[in-house]
Amino acid sequence: LKITILGTGSATPSLIRNPSAQVLDDDHGIYLIDCGEGTQNQLIKNKIKLTKLKNIFISHLHGDHYFGLIGLISSLNLAQRNEPLNIFGPKGLSQIIQIQLKYSQTFLNFKLTFIEIDTYKVQNIFENEHITISTLPLIHRVPCSGFLFIEKPKKRSIIAEKLPKKIEPHEILTLKNGNNIYDLNNKIIYNFQEFTTEPPLPKKYAYCSDTAYSEAIIKHIIGIDLLYHEATFRNDLAERAKKTLHSTASDAAKIAQKAEVKKLIIGHFSSRYHELDVNLNEAQSIFENTFLAIENETYNI
Ligand SMILES: [Zn+2]
Ligand SMILES: [Zn+2]
Repeated sequence: LKITILGTGSATPSLIRNPSAQVLDDDHGIYLIDCGEGTQNQLIKNKIKLTKLKNIFISHLHGDHYFGLIGLISSLNLAQRNEPLNIFGPKGLSQIIQIQLKYSQTFLNFKLTFIEIDTYKVQNIFENEHITISTLPLIHRVPCSGFLFIEKPKKRSIIAEKLPKKIEPHEILTLKNGNNIYDLNNKIIYNFQEFTTEPPLPKKYAYCSDTAYSEAIIKHIIGIDLLYHEATFRNDLAERAKKTLHSTASDAAKIAQKAEVKKLIIGHFSSRYHELDVNLNEAQSIFENTFLAIENETYNI
């Protein structure tokens, strides 16, 4: 799994940051998470192939998280897309987009499906053979949900140099699945432990933007590989964070620490901050393995 950050800003426009958007890539497909204004440009800049995009996840209906959506849909249509597109988001999103399509007389060449998410529940909303995606209820001024991405367990890895020459492909698959191969007398011919190694542990990633400090999410993200958590403000504006139902860098770090995640990335920075050293220091003083979200950077999970 890897994540490319397209936007790290919050609410008001900034010349140095784009609003929220990121792309998760699991080698089999890509998932767009939030789609603030300017996301299309960022997708082009990062050379992200939109033919691989089949699913979009919108956390909430504040503009900095979805104002880029109608533009992206229109462009996909102009590019003669035929592949279906699914958009997961809170109640109301479907209506907003449909009315824009209606009055611009845009008739789509592809099937667009909206899947309404319940932002108050932890629910599996997507699953294929490689990944499961569930909602993470957040606390914000409008219904808002984070997303938890969990890789499916992988098959065991074959130790190629140990494989006997006469082994059949279906037997290799049996070994990869962690099963032995027996002869007619039920005697083991090939022991899977001899020819394979443990698969890598499934990776886990959580996206939490926007939210007030909420310990309710901790139990769902225990020990995950990477947490992206919003950190709109610094400590000196902790009161403002509480009032607007946002987090400070310290809040994000406390969640990371309590959930014992492996790594924290903070983002969704207020446009009042140009330099982010202080934000990073505040978070690192609580949770050392914290990084700033940097636009156009890809992070391995
Ligand atoms: Zn926001
Ligand atoms: Zn918001």
